Amino acid sequence: MFPFQLTGAQDRVIHEVYADMARPSPMNRLVQGDVGSGKTAVAAAAMLVAVLSGYQAALMAPTEILAEQHYFNLHPLFDRLGVEVTLLVGKQPAPKKRQALEAAATPIPRTLTMTLHGDLDVSVLDELPPGRTPIKTRWRLPYERRQVYDGVREVLRDGRQAYFVCPMISESEKMQTQAAVDLHYRLSQIDFSEFRVGLLHGQMKAAEKEATMSAFRNHELDILVSTVVIEVGVDVPNATVMVIEDANRFGLAQLHQLRGRVGRGSHQSYCVLISDAKNEEARARLETLVGTTDGFKIAETDLRLRGPGELAGTRQHGNLDFKLADLIQDVKLLELARQTAIDLLTDDPRLQRPEHAGILLLSQEQPSDRALITVS
Ligand code: ADP
Ligand code: MG
Repeated sequence: MFPFQLTGAQDRVIHEVYADMARPSPMNRLVQGDVGSGKTAVAAAAMLVAVLSGYQAALMAPTEILAEQHYFNLHPLFDRLGVEVTLLVGKQPAPKKRQALEAAATPIPRTLTMTLHGDLDVSVLDELPPGRTPIKTRWRLPYERRQVYDGVREVLRDGRQAYFVCPMISESEKMQTQAAVDLHYRLSQIDFSEFRVGLLHGQMKAAEKEATMSAFRNHELDILVSTVVIEVGVDVPNATVMVIEDANRFGLAQLHQLRGRVGRGSHQSYCVLISDAKNEEARARLETLVGTTDGFKIAETDLRLRGPGELAGTRQHGNLDFKLADLIQDVKLLELARQTAIDLLTDDPRLQRPEHAGILLLSQEQPSDRALITVS
């Protein structure tokens, strides 16, 4: 079905998904994988099985651009198999869209996964497709911009493409748009006037956005200046440079997501963080990004820097404030507790034994082996 050979991790996860689908009970599985690990292929394989079994499948994406990209990538694959694919996009107000963006993709630490998704089975894609060279990440000060731009020019002359991302200046979509418009003007008229420079922001009409994305995909543009609308999922393997302006204004997970837009092909990729951050926490974020490309490590650091509520956007749930456990210190203990709970329920699904009389079972509608339990 795919134009490439699946990685070992993709193969394993697809089989875990198939095993779920062969069961009479509904699948409850979270597939976690770092940016670029190839989650789309897993989704496509699952959808194909559903269709071949006489059912239909829907792939939900958090933004219009992503939905269009999935459509663009998947319909040729499915066409060849005689499976019909259609695209459905709808208008979403901007704040909602931003929430969707913030909620998507980057892996979250194991402890958080267990806490938030304790009732889900988890598959981890812990392998990148072969032939990827690690992205070189550099932190540069604003006055070093000239040298950065010189470097970008060289890469563009070699036939590659680049993203320039403008910061979130405030909650106002208008101001973000203005920043992107200004940067686009500066790059297209002054710094990169010999190249083709496109612009993408959230206030453009859907058709305009798609036209720009498709021009970039087809290499009719060398540079794409964008607000964070580019963040999640966008996949243009020939783009190998990501320049992030005022990088300190982004969260760690967001920066990792943005960087994940490059390093998707076999060419050497680069990520440049432009920032004169003085704030210690912001500096720690930038140094973390320079120091590792491992999304799971980045997620752990994010958890330490920001705390669990902020990280998962779940402050409203209030279920992350444990009285005894600490999500950062107690990973091992939490894993043990979860496994103990699962074993106990496998052994005594209805909690009928006298020694289990003090245990209260929550969410009875869940299959018993996945129920949340609490000790009274
Ligand atoms: P993500 O996990 O970030 O959603 P994608 O599904 O977008 O990653 O995959 C990233 C890129 O890697 C895509 O261009 C995809 O076609 C490619 N890819 C996925 N799996 C493989 C593989 N096994 N071998 C080579 N390329 C792959
Ligand atoms: Mg993806």
